[in-house]
Amino acid sequence: MNRCKNCNTLLTDDIAYSDQLCYPCEEENMHNEYVEHLIEIGHLTQCENCGNIWDGNAQCNCWTFDDILEYIRSNSPISVTEILNYD
Ligand SMILES: [Zn+2]
Ligand SMILES: [Zn+2]
Repeated sequence: MNRCKNCNTLLTDDIAYSDQLCYPCEEENMHNEYVEHLIEIGHLTQCENCGNIWDGNAQCNCWTFDDILEYIRSNSPISVTEILNYD
């Protein structure tokens, strides 16, 4: 009997998608391709910093913190360091 080339599960009739893949792995495959497609057309964004994938409206925490610093820099005469140390 064949095993799934991805997760090495024994491909019994109820779980075999093909000779090489089980259903869960096939679904994951399709999901990954779909996500890559969405990134390509700009519906999803992949964070270059941590690799997390976000939809158009959400932003990664990596950037949120940068955005806050940027906001502080551009809107306040107080230095960033002073704000971060503020008790
Ligand atoms: Zn599998
Ligand atoms: Zn990130």
